[in-house]
Amino acid sequence: MKVTLIVKGIHCASCVSLIEKTIKKDSGVRNVSVNFGTEKVRIEFDEKLTDIKRLSGSVKPFGYELIQEKKPIDHIHNKMEVNNDKTELDILKKNLILGLSFAFISAVFMFWDILSLPPVSLLPEMSEIVKTFMHHLMPILATYTLFIIGLPYLKGVWRFIRTGVANMDTLIGIGTFTAFLYSFIVTAFENVLKPYLNTGITYYDVTIVVIALITLGKYLESNSKAKTGEAIKKLMHLQAKTAIVLRGGIEIEIPIDQVVLGDILRVKPGMKIAVDGEITDGVSSIDESMITGESVPVDKKVNDLVIGGTINKQGSFLMKATQVGSDTMLAKIIEMVEEAQGSKAPIQALADKISSVFVPIVLVISVVALVAWLGFGIPAIGFSSALSYGLLAFVGVLVIACPCALGLATPTAIIVGVGKGAERGILIKDAESLQKLSSVNTVVFDKTGTITKGQPSVTDIVMFNENTKTSELLKFSASIEFLSEHPLAQAIVDKAKSENITIEKAEGFKALEGVGVIGNILGESISVSKPDAQEKNNEHISKLESEGKTVVVVKKGDVVLGVIALSDTIKEGVAETIKRLNSQNIKTVMLTGDNARAANYIAKEAGIDEVIAEVLPQDKANKIKELQSQGRKVAMVGDGVNDAPALVQADVGIAMATGTDVAIESAGITLLQGDIRKLADAISLSKATMRTIKQNLFWAFFYNVAGIPLAAGVFYPIWGILLSPVFAGVAMAGSSVSVVTNSLRLKTKRLK
Ligand code: ADP
Ligand code: MG
Repeated sequence: MKVTLIVKGIHCASCVSLIEKTIKKDSGVRNVSVNFGTEKVRIEFDEKLTDIKRLSGSVKPFGYELIQEKKPIDHIHNKMEVNNDKTELDILKKNLILGLSFAFISAVFMFWDILSLPPVSLLPEMSEIVKTFMHHLMPILATYTLFIIGLPYLKGVWRFIRTGVANMDTLIGIGTFTAFLYSFIVTAFENVLKPYLNTGITYYDVTIVVIALITLGKYLESNSKAKTGEAIKKLMHLQAKTAIVLRGGIEIEIPIDQVVLGDILRVKPGMKIAVDGEITDGVSSIDESMITGESVPVDKKVNDLVIGGTINKQGSFLMKATQVGSDTMLAKIIEMVEEAQGSKAPIQALADKISSVFVPIVLVISVVALVAWLGFGIPAIGFSSALSYGLLAFVGVLVIACPCALGLATPTAIIVGVGKGAERGILIKDAESLQKLSSVNTVVFDKTGTITKGQPSVTDIVMFNENTKTSELLKFSASIEFLSEHPLAQAIVDKAKSENITIEKAEGFKALEGVGVIGNILGESISVSKPDAQEKNNEHISKLESEGKTVVVVKKGDVVLGVIALSDTIKEGVAETIKRLNSQNIKTVMLTGDNARAANYIAKEAGIDEVIAEVLPQDKANKIKELQSQGRKVAMVGDGVNDAPALVQADVGIAMATGTDVAIESAGITLLQGDIRKLADAISLSKATMRTIKQNLFWAFFYNVAGIPLAAGVFYPIWGILLSPVFAGVAMAGSSVSVVTNSLRLKTKRLK
C-alpha cells in the first residue's frame, strides 16, 4: 500500500533523514520518502505487517506527527477551503512581532552602549537609572523570548537529551540556551563571580536577537514556500462549483459533485465547463488556455470534446458528461502535479546525505571551538575574555551551521518548476524526469502523429493492372482497411466513401503490425501493405516516395493491382521547434516505420538531422538503446500508445497527449493537445530548474562552509575577526530566505 501523509513538526533538512531512517526501521515498510518542500511523506508498506498508526507512533518521540490528507480529488473544492496552516502562520506572526520588538530594544541598548563609550563617544553616556532599568529588563525579555518564542528549540534540546538524536532545532536550542544560562548565572551570582569574570558582559541580547532572526527567517520562508505552491491552487480554482443539468426535461443547477456520467449539461456563454464531455448540440468557441496553455480559443462543434475547467466564450451548447469526479482531466492533472511536486530529484540525494551527518558534526565543531578558545585563549587573553569569546564561538557555530537552506534548495525549485510546466500544458510526472530532461542531447521523434498530423490523405492511385478499374482497387482496399485502426487505413476508407464506393464485408482479416493488412473480400485474397524490397525499385513507387509520400501496394493473390500514395502534412510549429532544439545544442532524429525516401523528404522539410526509417514497431525501443549505447542522452517523443516501449527505453519519454487523457503511463512528461512547440519549452524549463537547484545548493553550502570557521573564530588570531552570533543569525535566516526567493524567480523566467 502506498500513502502520502502530511508531516507535522518538520522544520529542517536534517528532519528528513531522521524521519526516513526511523520509519524505515519498521520491517513492514518497503519505501519511504520525505519531502521538505511539501512537508509530506510518501510511504510504501505492507499493510499486513504494519499500519499508519504504528508508523506515526514511531516518529512521535522525535516531535513529528503524521496526518492523513483529505483525499480524494472528488473534493477538490473542500480542500481549497481548509487551510490548517493558517493558525500556525498566525502564531509565527505573533511571535515574530514580539521577537522583533525585543530584538529592537536590545539592539538600541547594545549600540547606545557601544557608541557612548570612549573612544567613540558619539552619544551621551546612558544615565545610571536607564542602565539599571535595562539591566533588569533584558533578563525578562530574554526569558520570554527563549521560553515562549524559542520553545520549539528548547524542545529540540530536550529531545536530544532523551533520545540522543539532534536536529536543527537542537543546534539553535543549545546555542541560545547556553547564552542565556551563562548570562543568568552571571546576573544571579554577580557578587560571587566578580573576582573571576567580567560580570559586565551578558548575552541576553544574543538569545533575543538570534531567536527573533530565526523566527523572521522561518516566517519569510513559510510565506514564500506557500507561494511556490500557487500553481496547484490555481489549478484547483479552475474547478467549477456548480453545473446546469437537464433532469426530467428541466434545467437545474446542482453542485458539481452531483453530476453523474451521461448527464446532459447546459453550458451558457461565459460559463465554466463543469466536467469533461462531448458536445451534443450547438457550437461555440472555448478558451482552453488555463489547461492546455493554448492561448487562441478553440472552435468546437457537435461530437467535439470539451474539458472541465475551461471557459465557454460566446456560444451556448449542450454536452454529455463523459468524465466526472476524479476521472476528469483537471483532476488527473492536479493529482499528477501534486505527485510530481512531492517527488525527489536524484540531485537531492547528496543534500540529504550531507544534512544527515551535518548536525552531529556541527555539535562536535562547536565544542571543539569552545575548548580551543579556553585552551589557547586563557594564556593569551586571560580567563574572562577567553571564556566569553569561546562562548560566542560556540553559540555562533551552532547558529550559522543550520543546514536549513540545504534542505530547501531542491524541493522549492522542483515545486515551482513543475507548477510552471502545468500552467503551460507541460505535465511532469516526477522530479527525476525533469532532471533527466535537462541533460538530454538527442531528441528522437516518432513520425506519424508527432511530426506529421497523423491524418494522411490519399493523393495518387496508380494502376498496375489494365484489367482492374480504379474504383475496384479502392473497393478492395477500403473494405479490408475498414477493419484496421491505422491512420493510413482511415484515409483509404475516407477516399472510398468520398467516391461513393460501398464497403464489402471482409473475412479472415489479419493485421501485420508495421507492414500492412490481409484478408478476403468477395472471395478474393486481398492485401494492402508496404512495398517489399523488389517493389521498391519500381519507378512509380520510388518517384512517389521521394515526394514524401507513403505508398502501399494493393494485391489480389500474388497480382499487384496498383498502388495508393498517401501524404500527411507536417504539424504547425515543427520546423520552429527543431530550430529551437538545435540552438539548445540538441540533435534531432526521426524514427519511423515508413519508407526511407518519404521519411527523408519529411525530415528535410522539418529540419531534422537524422532519419531512422523502416523500423518495425517492436524494434523502435532497440533503436533507442543503440543511440544510448553511443553515449547519447535520449528523449523520445511519441503518442504514448504504439510507441510505449520506446518511450520507456528512452532516458525521458515524452508523450503528445490528445483528447483528455493525460496520465500516460509510459511517459515522464506529457505535452497537452499534441502541441510540439511545448517540447522546447519543456527542455528549457528543465534546464532553468536545474540551474536554480545548483545555484541554491551552492549558496546553501557556501553559507555553511564559509560561516563555520568565521563563527568559530579561526580568523581571530590572524585578522581579529570573530563573527558575532547575532550576525550568524542574520546569515542563517538570510540563507534560507535567499534560496526560496531564488526558486521563486523561476516563476517569471522566460523560457527560450
Ligand atoms: P509509423 O512509424 O509511421 O507510425 P507504422 O509502423 O505504423 O508507421 O507503419 C509502417 C508502415 O507499414 C506504413 O508506412 C505502411 O506502409 C505499412 N502499414 C502499416 N499498417 C498498415 C495498414 N493498415 N495498411 C497499409 N499499410 C500499413
Ligand atoms: Mg505509429
